[in-house]
Amino acid sequence: MTDKTLPAGLHPDTLAVREAVERSQWGEHSEALYLTSSFVQSDCASAARRFANEEAGYTYSRTSNPTVTSFERRLAAMEGTECAVATATGMSAILLVALTALKAGDHVICSQSMFGSTIKLLGTEMARFGVETSFVSQTDVQAWKAAMRPNTRLLFAETPTNPLTDLCDIAALAELAHAHGALLAVDNSFASPVLQQPVRFGADLVVHSGTKLLDGQGRVMAGAVCGTVALVDKVMGTFLRSGGLNLAPFNAWVVLKGLETLGLRVKAESAAALELATWLEAHPKVARVYYPGLKSHPQHELAMRQQNGMGGTVLAFDVAGQGAQQLRANAFHVVDSTRVCSITANLGDVKTTITHPASTSHGRLTEEQRQAAGIGQGLIRISVGLEHLGDLQNDLARGLDTLP
Ligand SMILES: *Cc1c(COP(=O)(O)O)cnc(C)c1O
Repeated sequence: MTDKTLPAGLHPDTLAVREAVERSQWGEHSEALYLTSSFVQSDCASAARRFANEEAGYTYSRTSNPTVTSFERRLAAMEGTECAVATATGMSAILLVALTALKAGDHVICSQSMFGSTIKLLGTEMARFGVETSFVSQTDVQAWKAAMRPNTRLLFAETPTNPLTDLCDIAALAELAHAHGALLAVDNSFASPVLQQPVRFGADLVVHSGTKLLDGQGRVMAGAVCGTVALVDKVMGTFLRSGGLNLAPFNAWVVLKGLETLGLRVKAESAAALELATWLEAHPKVARVYYPGLKSHPQHELAMRQQNGMGGTVLAFDVAGQGAQQLRANAFHVVDSTRVCSITANLGDVKTTITHPASTSHGRLTEEQRQAAGIGQGLIRISVGLEHLGDLQNDLARGLDTLP
């Protein structure tokens, strides 16, 4: 039983709960979970047609699965793309982009402040396959332009970044990429389609770690690539099915249900993050706050234009103090004094998380690399969840108010 055909032109909030509801003959209201590795065929002739791709129908879950398909269709509707393919994790989505958009002899340009595993994958691992990678400043379009080479095939951007919330100007990078016949891929894990739909600004590919905001409740790993049918379905989908980078049906079901509350969560978390950032900025023991929703953010105007008028769910701040040792001790004191926030590197969860990047996510960088990235020993990152704002303020004040 297929749901009533939806009218065209529905708002993303409606699509988030209504798109791609494929009901079984039982008429279940909530989306069914098809926890099966294969599908029974009615007869040999029909099986032959399905395996030859001449007839629509499911055969094997590495090829496709109804629950996974629903997640892909719903995410694509929310991103405003023709289609999406789901992957096991965010990193497998980025691997999929790298292995299909690049070949030996090609060149890719990325921001130097991207997610650590992305830097390792594109900068180190892909080098073994003859792919050259340049890392440039996140915010400086001229630096991206200067890095262009005749063999540049892909620009890979992540905006805003972790933990300093620096933005890329997606429209400017798209223009640059297209003038050179290259593709622009944007990792949208931090913003989600609620804040920004990169294809509206000209991006060709949108990458997600579904592990973050899309699930939003810290339960499963997931990933996706969104874009055109010609590129994402035909080229990347074919590789994904052969390479087995698939998202498991159970995880797809969890993220599919996560999409239903994405809008509410992101808007509420972003509003709370702005309040918290404003409060932190006025605190005497805070030296600097990094949050795109604040007027003090160097790219505030771009953020308002590109992120639907919202600052996002992640903020960072430097505690006051002198010298690396004292800054580190002060930051540890603030983080360790929390009793509500979770000390964990994950983000985009309804539970607020707090981390000290210099000793965790960015702990393996050399001191010079950390300095270049602007990640000092006094820096604390917060991914704001859905707790009551006053409780979060009290949780941070407990440490901040007792600093020496
Ligand atoms: C977490 C993250 C990834 C990797 O996703 P996984 O699901 O952990 O593989 C990629 N990009 C960004 C921006 C992330 O935050």
